[in-house]
Parts: sequence; C-alpha cells; structure tokens
Amino acid sequence: AGVTNVKSPISLAKLLLEKGWPLMMVGSGAEKFAEGEGIELTTQKKLKTDLRKAQWEKWKATKGSPGSTDEDDEAMSAVLELDFETGTVGAVALDSDGNLAAATSTGGMTGKPPGRIGDTAIIGAGTWADQNVAISCTGVGEAYIRTSAAKRLADLVELTESNLEDAAETVLSEVSPIGGRGGLIAVDSDGNISMPFKTTMMYRGSWIDGEISTAIGPN
Ligand code: ASP
Repeated sequence: AGVTNVKSPISLAKLLLEKGWPLMMVGSGAEKFAEGEGIELTTQKKLKTDLRKAQWEKWKATKGSPGSTDEDDEAMSAVLELDFETGTVGAVALDSDGNLAAATSTGGMTGKPPGRIGDTAIIGAGTWADQNVAISCTGVGEAYIRTSAAKRLADLVELTESNLEDAAETVLSEVSPIGGRGGLIAVDSDGNISMPFKTTMMYRGSWIDGEISTAIGPN
C-alpha cells in the first residue's frame, strides 16, 4: 500500500504473497523492499497523465470533496482517447486447475490526503480470492472498507449459497448508501462472471477459452 515508485504494485504484492511474510507492507518500507528484490521502479513524473492532471486541476478549482471529479464526464470522454492504458486496474482469474486469484491496483481518489489508504490494497475490502470466488472492487474505498465488501461477497456465496450475480448486486447495494457508488468484477469456481457497477461506466472485459469480450457503458 502507498507505494509511489513501483511500476506494477501488483507484481510487488505477488512477490509478498509468494514469500509468505510479511503479508502487507506500506510506503517507503515497501519501496525499499521492492528495490532490494529487483522489482521494476518508475517515477512520479512518468505516472502523471493528462487526464489525471485535468481531474486534479478541476478538483482544486471547484474545491470538491475527494473523488468528486473522478467520474467527470468531460474527463471520462477524454479518457477514451488519451488514457486507456492507465488508471485503476482490477483482475480476477480462474485457471484450468480451478485456482482463483484477484488483484487490484489504483492511484486512489483525486484529492486524497497523503497517507490515505483506500480499499484496494486491503484484502477483504477491495480485493479477495478464496477457493470459491475472486473479487476486485472499484469505487469510494471507505465504503468498501466499512462493509468489508469483497469478503462479504465471498461469504454470501459460501454461506448463503447465493449465486454470484445476486451476491455481487447485494454487495453493491449495501456499499452504495454509505457513499461507495462503484463496481466490481468477480469470477467463481464454476467460471461464472459478474461485473456489476453503479457508476456511469466501467471498462471491463472477459477472456473465456480464448473468447474476448469488452464493454464500457451499461450495455
Ligand atoms: N477504490 C479506490 C480508492 O478508494 C478508488 C478506485 O480505484 O476505484 O482509493
């Protein structure tokens, strides 16, 4: 969590997972660890994009609350042209041996204070995988932390035998009223996929036995 110069924080998280201990690292300690392990580093300068800069400038000019410009329509249409290769990334996977995995990486919310940690890096909040289901979330992280959203979805699947789609909808409807309008992607051990969202759009795609499908808006 809170790394500023790691090119792919998910690679760093995967390395920790493989090493087994510690489970979670943050900030400069995590960066030092990454450097020592030969993980590819980058610079803040390279991470700045026109879209994020525009959102940040608008956020500053409007004195908005953190995240208030993250769904800015003008900026969102710009993202399609400018910025397809950057931003929040979540992935969930089921392999042919039945292993499930989830990963999420984000720059957080525009205007967040230094030191804020959202749900993304918190296992059980924004990201979760067990033997039944893998989940990756996006949205206002505080609400996902307060509801342990990703683990909640996994519990619904395991303990109430909800189907994936219903469990995912239930979780989003619990997160929304406390300010967590967002979305998630999930896959279960039977290969069912669910990708609901309550935002204007969510770039998403699936790969099933070589067949790819992608979507941005509700349809
Ligand atoms: N969930 C992230 C956060 O709260 C934002 C996002 O990437 O969706 O920091």
